[in-house]
Amino acid sequence: MHLVGIDIGGTKICVCVGDDQGNIIESRRLPTQELKGSENALPAIEQEIKKMLEEEKIDLSQIGAIGISSPGPISTKEGKMLKPPNLPGWENAPLIDFFKNAFQKKVMMNNDANAAALAEFQFGQFKGTSNLVYLTCSTGMGGGAVANGQLVQGASDTAAEVGHFVLDINGPKCPCGQHGCFEMYCGGAALAAKMKEEIAQNSIKTEVLTIAKGQIEQVDAACLIQALEKKDPYAQKVWDEYIVRLAQGIGVVLMNFNPEALILGTMAIHSKNLMLDPLKKLLPHFAWRENINACRIEASAIGDKISELSGLALAKQALLGQSHS
Ligand SMILES: [Zn+2]
Repeated sequence: MHLVGIDIGGTKICVCVGDDQGNIIESRRLPTQELKGSENALPAIEQEIKKMLEEEKIDLSQIGAIGISSPGPISTKEGKMLKPPNLPGWENAPLIDFFKNAFQKKVMMNNDANAAALAEFQFGQFKGTSNLVYLTCSTGMGGGAVANGQLVQGASDTAAEVGHFVLDINGPKCPCGQHGCFEMYCGGAALAAKMKEEIAQNSIKTEVLTIAKGQIEQVDAACLIQALEKKDPYAQKVWDEYIVRLAQGIGVVLMNFNPEALILGTMAIHSKNLMLDPLKKLLPHFAWRENINACRIEASAIGDKISELSGLALAKQALLGQSHS
């Protein structure tokens, strides 16, 4: 049985066809912004899927279910997006109804971090591990948790929103309205903003800026990791502060969920032991020994297939009969 996966992101929409083992047969991308909102985009996604299936000679009758990974916030009960802050024109987009009507298949949706956690649970290096947590460690700090073999959804679809654990009420203001959220210290965008401000205000000479070709607006988390590899002192200072906050946030995760596996996304994949070694050293300040000892912490092995596998994981879940309607 084949499955269709859809991953809606701020810059691109990924559609793919694959199977319930996580094998990807074909994958395509659509540019989100050019489609200007859900009214245009949803029919365009439908057409792209139909074209893809036709070109791959897969009949619609061979498709078991469709899974949709969506930016939050969402309502799984109503099967729609709510007001995604980074996706203008997609307010209340009726994802479940639209794709059910278009394809007459089971459809399941979830927010992107939950979908990625499910992808790790079904296809990743810790697949089948009953208690696992996934943190995106990307531009933001999304999170998803599987407890006792079930994705933790919560009363209003916002369980495991680790990025908005408050680490310091006197910290920088977060777009969510709180101060000092985990994401404001450890999201890639917040890290980049902090470096830009510090480098510009204090005229800091650093490899971070050299790697960004001297252009302050090009400074990002990737520059930081490269500068760290060159043993740049400023990069090391920023990284040390980052690791303390990362350990603090992850400490809360370990105490909350007591997972057997913690899987870290983008920045962990790129920085590997530069992140994992100092993180593990600091964790005993923020979590109990038994929680730390019970948990294996690794960078995700799924890497750049996370878009495809997030959609396929939800489709597989729908096929297993856990659809929301
Ligand atoms: Zn926040």
